[in-house]
Amino acid sequence: VVDIGQPEHSIITTCAYCGVGCAFKAEMRGEEVVRMVPYKDGGANEGHSCVKGRFAFSYATHKDRVLTPMIREKVTDPWQVVTFDEAINYAAKRLKETQEKYGRKSIGAVTSSRTTLEEIYSVQKLVRAAFNNNNVDTCARVCHSPTGYGLKVTFGEAAGTQDFKSTDKTDVMLVIGCNPTDAHPVFGSRMKKRIREGAKVIVVDPRRIDLVDSPHVKADYHLQLMPGTNVAVVNALCHVIATENLIDRKFVNRRCEKTDFHRWEEFIKRPEHSPEAMEPVTGVPAQMVREAARLFATGGNAAIYYGLGVTEHTQGSTAVMALANLAMATGNIGREGVGVNPLRGQNNVQGSSDMGSAPHEYPGYRHVSNKDVRDIYEKEWGLKLDDEPGLRIPNMFDAAIDGSYRGMFIHGEDIAQSDPDTHHVEAALKAMDIVVVQDLFLNETAAFAHVFLPGTSFLEKDGTFVNAERRVNRVRKVLKEKQGVPEWEIVSRLATAMGYPMHYNSASEVMDEIARTTPPFQGISYERLDELGSVQWPCNEQHPTGTPIMHTDEFVRGKGRFMLTAFMATDERASNNFPLILTTGRILSQYNVGAQTRRTDNMAWHPEDILEMNPYDAEIRGMKDGQIVSLTSRAGATTIRLKISDRMPQGVVYTTFHHPGTGANLITTSNSDWATNCPEYKVTAVQVAPSNQP
Ligand code: SF4
Repeated sequence: VVDIGQPEHSIITTCAYCGVGCAFKAEMRGEEVVRMVPYKDGGANEGHSCVKGRFAFSYATHKDRVLTPMIREKVTDPWQVVTFDEAINYAAKRLKETQEKYGRKSIGAVTSSRTTLEEIYSVQKLVRAAFNNNNVDTCARVCHSPTGYGLKVTFGEAAGTQDFKSTDKTDVMLVIGCNPTDAHPVFGSRMKKRIREGAKVIVVDPRRIDLVDSPHVKADYHLQLMPGTNVAVVNALCHVIATENLIDRKFVNRRCEKTDFHRWEEFIKRPEHSPEAMEPVTGVPAQMVREAARLFATGGNAAIYYGLGVTEHTQGSTAVMALANLAMATGNIGREGVGVNPLRGQNNVQGSSDMGSAPHEYPGYRHVSNKDVRDIYEKEWGLKLDDEPGLRIPNMFDAAIDGSYRGMFIHGEDIAQSDPDTHHVEAALKAMDIVVVQDLFLNETAAFAHVFLPGTSFLEKDGTFVNAERRVNRVRKVLKEKQGVPEWEIVSRLATAMGYPMHYNSASEVMDEIARTTPPFQGISYERLDELGSVQWPCNEQHPTGTPIMHTDEFVRGKGRFMLTAFMATDERASNNFPLILTTGRILSQYNVGAQTRRTDNMAWHPEDILEMNPYDAEIRGMKDGQIVSLTSRAGATTIRLKISDRMPQGVVYTTFHHPGTGANLITTSNSDWATNCPEYKVTAVQVAPSNQP
């Protein structure tokens, strides 16, 4: 037992891990955080927390933190410690030289969903105003970009429709491609509570996740589909609803575009979408799909919850639109207890998308070709802006290998570990003339950098995060910046050194600029957030206290739009050489690439990535639980420890991606979503064999 004594004071801030966005009281003694206590008035968590937010904050003071800027001419040279001014001027000089030699569009930036709104806004401004192009993209590209696309096309707004509280009124949950008890634990507990109160559950997932079968919760239906067949399953659910006369015609007639609906109804009724036709493709018994569809359409308030198991596919955007069709067809939009709820993985995925770190959109999801929108920023920033969309992250890599994209500012993102097809990413980074990394640690990407700018942990930040329910939460500075400079200021100084003077006195001033220029944030300021605790955008004159539930009387786009969602199988297929399908996910105690949680005591719970495999698949390969096996795909190979698990179906294996040593992304492919280029992390054909390693 460790006596941590009594805290001297506390500061309320927000967890920097998942998209639930729990509020915590950071209890302090002097300049030390002694305890993180879940805050009972936190809008998203109401006093609850998980092992990450509560215990995994010691990475902020870990010895691996780099606190001094560093530069080097070549990546083979040793790092040279310099001042911030020297590092920023050096970075600016090399970035400018690259533009002079290869053109204005030869450089760009990547933002991180772990940083604050204010930092992300600053980076997209750096790119648009100082680089004078639109080559800025967010790491949400590789997770929830299909959500933005699919929900914008169908409903008119690139965000989840509900607040978390709405779930307390849900009668039927459709949980597809997400594992909330591991990846969104506080919200997962809220779902479990509602299930124990009697809500029915339909789980669509290749794995037998906790919500299917745990000591306190049993799903009513588990549609255990083959990875890559979400669209086929959702279409089959819709087919049953359409052909068995279960469509909520009152809702559809009043709220949706008629022509699009009629076209969709004719399309979805075709026999090719029936559960029977789809059973050989999806592996889900047709009768189970029929019963689940009837339950969803007639069981009361029905809500859809989904995660990266929906988006990270070649048909990620199609699947999001298919879910939107399902919600509209059954009238489950626009009130408590229903809706389409994307569960965002990182703390600020919603916010990074909101802030225009996208090559085609300004903050607030407005296209760069829209002159009226450009006018707003040209006036605010005082210069002429580029009207052509820039490069998405995967296109940046391709262009680097082609030689037209030569420099990159990477803000808080470890692309060499987190992005798919690691060999391709590394080749792109090697091909660039200048790579600037701003981060807490010398991560895998920093191995390819010429300038390293030390960043700040969430405990040292002033700013805001936006969670999965569009809730803007305050992040308050608990500790002084260990490297001495706020991150938005580093970005501003880089812009200034590039020739575009950029200056703010505080993070609050950045938020004021966001509010001035971004309609859904118009009513938000730090004073307002202090007063309300938190607020869900849109927050403006019409909604001064925010908007917990969207699309109540009409959709943001006016009428809801049904989209045709034909199923097309991915090109990635099992074969004799690669007979298993690998899918990936997260585990409770770790977070993403593990840069933070691996530097905390949470390591004790999950010290390595594990490959889960069905007992039959292990037996026919003569493999034992706990042994090291080789995992090989068409893209690459790695080794990993085996766990035999009846949670896996035959033919499918599963792993996490928290540890660089495993390198799960060495074997994932470069396939991606047709609309957004979100990588297909969830389907890789692999072979597993005993390894020579002990
Ligand atoms: Fe809450 Fe997510 Fe942080 Fe856990 S990781 S405390 S659920 S925000």
